[in-house]
Amino acid sequence: TMTLSGKTALVTAAGQGIGRATALAFAKAGAIVHATDINEALLSAYAGETGITTRKVDVLDSASVNAAVAGIGAVDILFNCAGFVHSGTVLEASDEDLDFAYDLNVKSMVRTIRAVLPGMLQRKNGVIINMSSVASSMTGVPNRFAYGMSKAAVIGLTKSVAADYVGKGIRCNAICPGTVESPSLQDRMRAQGDYDTARAAFIARQPMGRLGQPEEIAELALYLAGASFTTGQAYAIDGGWTI
Ligand code: NAD
Repeated sequence: TMTLSGKTALVTAAGQGIGRATALAFAKAGAIVHATDINEALLSAYAGETGITTRKVDVLDSASVNAAVAGIGAVDILFNCAGFVHSGTVLEASDEDLDFAYDLNVKSMVRTIRAVLPGMLQRKNGVIINMSSVASSMTGVPNRFAYGMSKAAVIGLTKSVAADYVGKGIRCNAICPGTVESPSLQDRMRAQGDYDTARAAFIARQPMGRLGQPEEIAELALYLAGASFTTGQAYAIDGGWTI
């Protein structure tokens, strides 16, 4: 079994969904976990969990990210999980949507990496895991223009960082889930008006005939956090969507 004993992990968007499941999995594996989110109310649900410290961090704000990392000290494992799903085609996405997708889904990762990487390089040891999606350069998904564009950029970011620092003790990989049961997915299914039809459409994209669970994605994040011979890869974990 994977142990992260003695490792310090920083998780963004850990308030709910995949980020929360991963923070819990990292702590269970022995890591000292800093679970961060912009929503402090969500973070309060960690009360009583051993090995987890919570902190409000807005990944859109460099000062907020830098202050958090200054407070934490050495970060061995960074999980960049924050992201937002826009719907719409190229003709429907506004410039504001594109800017926001790029800021939250891509530049957020640049902010956190810039904050933790110098320390990782000093220690010649560091793991960076970035949340992408199969809706990226892996596969084109209808009605997900801003999202797919930004998540493809996450894969490019991941490979670029991996290439620059592969000889310096840094590994950087991306996770590309299919559709995963999470609070924001519930919101999106409700927002479509007919919840049951929306849910059935999401499930229909999954050849396994079901949605993924956040804990199943956390297992891959845990693997990548403790692995030793993989870097620069984009790992699909999608119920068979991209077979
Ligand atoms: P979610 O969307 O339900 O939760 C997102 C969390 O991000 C919330 O707790 C929110 O408060 C936080 N957040 C929003 N803006 C923030 C900011 N500026 N700074 C810090 N935190 C902020 O969780 P999810 O659905 O598990 O998605 C997590 C990640 O996984 C996202 O990057 C998403 O794109 C990606 N992903 C999700 C799915 C899916 O089907 N759920 C599939 C593929 C990829």
